[in-house]
Amino acid sequence: MDDAPRRTVPIKLDVPEQRRGDLHQTKQQFLHCANRTSDWAWRYDDYCITSKNKAENALYDDLREETDLTANLVQKGIRRAIEAVTGGVEKLKQGEKTSQPEFDSWSVVYDKRSATFNDDHATLSTPNGRVKTDYVLQPESEREGTPFGRYYESDDWDASTATLQYDEQEDTFSLHVTLKNPDYEVDGAERHEAESPDDHEKNGVVLGVDLNVTGVFAVTSTGAFIGSADYLNHKRDQYEQRRGKLQQTGTRSAHLTIQSIGSAFSEWSLDWLHNRANDLIAEAQSGDVDGIIFENLDHIRENIANGSQFQQWAYAKFVELVEYKAESTALFVDFVNPAYTSQRCSHCGFTHEDNRDDKAFVCQDCGHEANADYNAAKNIANRYCGYIHRGQKSRGGWATSQLALKSGALNVNGEYTPAELLG
Ligand SMILES: [Zn+2]
Repeated sequence: MDDAPRRTVPIKLDVPEQRRGDLHQTKQQFLHCANRTSDWAWRYDDYCITSKNKAENALYDDLREETDLTANLVQKGIRRAIEAVTGGVEKLKQGEKTSQPEFDSWSVVYDKRSATFNDDHATLSTPNGRVKTDYVLQPESEREGTPFGRYYESDDWDASTATLQYDEQEDTFSLHVTLKNPDYEVDGAERHEAESPDDHEKNGVVLGVDLNVTGVFAVTSTGAFIGSADYLNHKRDQYEQRRGKLQQTGTRSAHLTIQSIGSAFSEWSLDWLHNRANDLIAEAQSGDVDGIIFENLDHIRENIANGSQFQQWAYAKFVELVEYKAESTALFVDFVNPAYTSQRCSHCGFTHEDNRDDKAFVCQDCGHEANADYNAAKNIANRYCGYIHRGQKSRGGWATSQLALKSGALNVNGEYTPAELLG
């Protein structure tokens, strides 16, 4: 599921003479955002800040004042810097040398909110309004087989993001457009209620996520089962047992061992959560989804009130990681009040506590049967669509009733054994 196909197609631009300055200005202001963020994130001697949310909270308002960029480009500049800082921190962790990222070269990041990608031209947001720029294209007869012909002009591939670049020697601009394939099929997956590509042009789709303390860690409305909560709990128990034994010994060396297995376990669990967050992002991208919808965190906390502090931490961290990772994609993340999502039939809407028996869902009204977590995930996405239909503005900017539930591709039903527990 990690390999949702992507292709990047470089396209030369024929920028109108009088608008070239606007693109240069965009670059300067974009780099200003990135450099200010880098200074901020790297300002301490002994640690760096790698949270995009924190960076946005601290800098966004100032940068909007200091530049004439749109909100979207300011955010992209902040994120670009935080990604570089995060990369630097990874290097430091591995004992490699690195220094504070500085941004001086061309690469302004655009997505569908700050650009449009059309057949023969693009429009790009700048401090002085949108610039419309034609593509420099080969004659149509010669385009077949070129990346532009194979991907950009193909109905199977969808432009999602792009970077604007500039060649100083040749004094030319180009756009490096990244395309995704929305019809990418999960292996062996069956699609239910899938939208036709035409519908998708008009409609956004969201994916719902049901998080659990037992069984499967995260189940999506597209039918993906991500990670095993049982496995995570099992690893935690093992760690607790070792710690308990060492505590009884009480020696200084036991104390040191406790510290070292403690930090090894934190590292392991954080790594595990990162990977599950990547799985979820990949699932959303392979389904060509616009947004990921969770139950709101207050509820997750309530739901696992009997769970350990570790579980509380793990679920909050997982959601935070997904939000963080989504920021460098076109995906948005939002939340619903999840009351009764586990008792409601996603087929007919009948809601009753008897509908659910642990992991089995059988509607007492219409007889619909489903994996209970999958049913809940569909309800979560549906509820969000309901909010939007009633006029709430979504985080992704879909202001009207244009969101639909993305469901289907239920790859395992009922008896599910997470891969980690096999063998
Ligand atoms: Zn029903």
